[in-house]
Amino acid sequence: MSVPELNPLPRAFAARLHDERLLQKCTSGGVFTACAEHIIGQGGYVCGAVLTETFSVRHQLAHDRNGICGMRGSKYVISSVRHLFPDIQRLLGEGQRVLFSGTPCQVAALKKFLGVSNDLLLTLDLFCYGVTMEIFWQSYLAYIGEKMKSPPREILFRYKQDGEKPSCLRIVCTNNRIYSGQLDQDPFYLGFFRNYAIRKPCFTCPFAALQREGDISIGDYWGVEAHHPELDAGNGMSALLVNSSKGERLLAEVGDSLDIHPTEIPYVTERNPCLRHPAAMPLDYDVFQQDLSRLSFSDLRRRYLRPRVSPLWRRLLRRLLRRLCGYLPDIR
Ligand SMILES: Cc1cc2nc3c(=O)[nH]c(=O)nc-3n(C[C@H](O)[C@H](O)[C@H](O)COP(=O)(O)OP(=O)(O)OC[C@H]3O[C@@H](n4cnc5c(N)ncnc54)[C@H](O)[C@@H]3O)c2cc1C
Ligand code: SF4
Repeated sequence: MSVPELNPLPRAFAARLHDERLLQKCTSGGVFTACAEHIIGQGGYVCGAVLTETFSVRHQLAHDRNGICGMRGSKYVISSVRHLFPDIQRLLGEGQRVLFSGTPCQVAALKKFLGVSNDLLLTLDLFCYGVTMEIFWQSYLAYIGEKMKSPPREILFRYKQDGEKPSCLRIVCTNNRIYSGQLDQDPFYLGFFRNYAIRKPCFTCPFAALQREGDISIGDYWGVEAHHPELDAGNGMSALLVNSSKGERLLAEVGDSLDIHPTEIPYVTERNPCLRHPAAMPLDYDVFQQDLSRLSFSDLRRRYLRPRVSPLWRRLLRRLLRRLCGYLPDIR
């Protein structure tokens, strides 16, 4: 066992999976998949978040490629993880390599639980704006179930339409009807982006900084088109920070499955405020919390989660932007 040295400042890259078929299933550039496939190929274990049958989020351990399928894709809801810490400790004790992927606070909690640093443990933390509360997520799902006259069967938080960056929450219901919620229209996303649905501790998050918990950090590379017009960012591009010598080694090992280009840290932080400071708590956050347990989801939506631009105006605006710019700028 040895203590990994931390780089004074992380090194930043734009990265994207070569495999277009797998990239389609990932939220941004698929760096998680590249790392996870590599560790599984080496006979190791991967720990990441999956959706359960009741659409809660829970971490699980995988030892084969099938096991990592459900981990792909961001789920912007709190994930339970602590039940796996003793298993991870046991696996490391048996000499197994383990890749843990999660929010920075989860990585910090795991490292605190283990107490000592271990070369066999690799950690990957996400740029993290905050997680939504389970109660908000479950009321939203019940609302969608009523709206679609059937409960959800399959959920993708950021669905990638062909050749476009991921943009909508896609819910397939048991009657095969499909709900598509745009980022600036859907009440789940409006609750998330307006910070009403985020858990209170996230507003004082000590990990919203460039000093990272994981060996590697990954997020969406918002604004990559402006800084690297030479790169093809269609279908998603990851921003990747390498924070330790273990992270450097992991990146060297998985390098062949990714297209990697050096970039500048200020480009990455520019449109990712969660690398500079925590999210701001809305002034009426506590009132919203009371209303969440008191009002129906429809009333909550009417009061707090109305879109600023109507769907009709939005369609017209998108058409105009497409004509003028040739692409659609990010919403956030
Ligand atoms: C709650 C949350 C907030 C985020 N906020 C930002 C942000 O502000 N800015 C930004 O650039 N990126 C953010 N991200 C990260 C981004 O959405 C992508 O997850 C990231 O870029 C990885 O993309 P990928 O294509 O490599 O991996 P993917 O294939 O999308 O894999 C996603 C990885 O995230 C893990 N994961 C998914 N859901 C959760 C969860 N609920 N809790 C813990 N781990 C989870 C999975 O285990 C998997 O390892 C956030 C992600 C989450 C889950
Ligand atoms: S914002 Fe901070 S406290 Fe909240 S989930 Fe992300 S890392 Fe954890």
